[in-house]
Amino acid sequence: MRTHYSNEITQKSDGKSVILYGWVHEIRDLGKLKFLILRDRDGFIQITARKGATEDVVLHKIEELSKESVIEVTGTVKLNEQAPKGVEIFPSSIKTINKSKSPLPLDVTEKVRADLDTRLNNRFMDLRKPRIAAIFKIRDNVLRAGREFLANNSFVEIHTPKIIASASEGGTELFPLSYFDKEAFLAQSPQLYKQMMMATGFDRVYEVTYYFRAEEHDTRRHLNEITAIDIEMAFIKDENDVMNILEGLVKSIIKSCSKCEELKVLGKEISVPTDIRRITYDEAVEMLKDHKKFIQWGEDLDTEAEKLLGRIMKEEYNSELYFLTQYPLKIKPFYTMPAKNHKYSRSFDLGYKGVEIASGGQRIHCHDLLTERIEHLGLGKTGLEFYLNAFEYGMPPHGGFGLGIDRIMMQLLDMPVREVVLFPRDRHRLVP
Ligand code: ATP
Ligand code: MG
Repeated sequence: MRTHYSNEITQKSDGKSVILYGWVHEIRDLGKLKFLILRDRDGFIQITARKGATEDVVLHKIEELSKESVIEVTGTVKLNEQAPKGVEIFPSSIKTINKSKSPLPLDVTEKVRADLDTRLNNRFMDLRKPRIAAIFKIRDNVLRAGREFLANNSFVEIHTPKIIASASEGGTELFPLSYFDKEAFLAQSPQLYKQMMMATGFDRVYEVTYYFRAEEHDTRRHLNEITAIDIEMAFIKDENDVMNILEGLVKSIIKSCSKCEELKVLGKEISVPTDIRRITYDEAVEMLKDHKKFIQWGEDLDTEAEKLLGRIMKEEYNSELYFLTQYPLKIKPFYTMPAKNHKYSRSFDLGYKGVEIASGGQRIHCHDLLTERIEHLGLGKTGLEFYLNAFEYGMPPHGGFGLGIDRIMMQLLDMPVREVVLFPRDRHRLVP
């Protein structure tokens, strides 16, 4: 419908006839002189009407416009040093395409700030703010850069079921649902299916996936519906091969995002890591102890410990990103490969500025060891037969990880997780 987007109009467009579409961002009525700011996907443009120069019907039209209505503006581009981009539009016609109700639930110009709940309740309007839209354009970039890196490294994109019959990460934290006459659950992760793909000869797969987790969290980093990039790769020597892929993936995502134009709108800069340090769980526990934070060996790091470790890594090692390796086996899921010393595992977490953004490791590929671990943990094989079956007919050594998209976004932009998800699902929020 349009001849131009607002940002396509430059001083070079002087004298051109244009048809623009967008929203009424602001109106400034100075009597004989009227300014209308039109907003579209890419920015703003000033429409200037002057008594004597502009037709009366157009002047009246501007007087009766309501903010946030969708309009069509036909006019001519004129140079004007005083206009925001050195150009403005002299309108010959303004039409309302769809009138907006008033008062508005949110102020899109952000002169009046709203709290996050009000913003999320009116997310369609919140996203009209260039600052908020910028977050999701950067998010698009995370996915684009991630997919490009994985494709270049011979990973095949797959989809696995989200309606499943049994747990993949232990019995708790599942959302049950009724599936005709059967009980079913929403998937906590694609874990079992992506591992089964290693028995197919695909060798390297990834999924941009949802995790559904019925955890009663109330933190700045937990949601109940999560998005992640999940990968699995076969014929690995050990977990280091998997860490190398994760390192490459995260570096290329961050590097690509650091060049995003939208960072200017947000007033942010992103520093690109050169080296991702690898420290063991034991070393981390020692470092924390030196800072008076005591973790019982074998316990997972709590929020405070994660945060403190992020600070130590940044201040003492100049490292915003760091791997924690060789976790105690007892706090990792049943499919995790034990290390030579069975107290430890071949698993790792990736921390970014004090928050876990990924977990992964080498998996058990031998059927007997796998069933032994399942029995040892008292999990029971019922419901896992379809999975275990894939380990009896030639399963190569393999490993993988899950990288939280919401988590990498929140740490990239230093924002709470609800800010970087369009329509977040948490314990209290199911609508919109
Ligand atoms: P955490 O300990 O931070 O709660 P986790 O260890 O339970 O996370 P994993 O099962 O390792 O999570 O999931 C892999 C990745 O998915 C995490 O590293 C994180 O990036 C992301 N993730 C997991 N749970 C959540 C959640 N509730 N909200 C947001 N992201 C999550
Ligand atoms: Mg984890």
